[in-house]
Amino acid sequence: MPSDHPRTRRDLLLSLAVLLPAGALVARPAAAEADPPLLSPQAPEAKAVKYTENAATAKAATAGANCGSCALYQGKYGSAQGPCQIFPGKSVKAAGWCSSWAAQM
Ligand code: SF4
Repeated sequence: MPSDHPRTRRDLLLSLAVLLPAGALVARPAAAEADPPLLSPQAPEAKAVKYTENAATAKAATAGANCGSCALYQGKYGSAQGPCQIFPGKSVKAAGWCSSWAAQM
């Protein structure tokens, strides 16, 4: 049965607003990506480069050298842990260190 009046854009928007959940109309920030799981210092790949979670315990680490100051660290500035380019799918401690440490340019 035809309606008495033609549907307007306003009618359509009102219909959609009723059908959509309220959350669908609110812009949401991108979901924070969780860090990958921490690398175990006992993992063979970690042992291969003498990875430690505490640079202070690494005799070969120079002053100020830790994951947080490494060019290969991909964690955010000031983060406690984050991904590392040489350990795909794993996070390392910012306070950690390994023999592949590289100075940031
Ligand atoms: S390469 Fe750098 S960030 Fe990765 S574990 Fe070694 S010192 Fe840490």
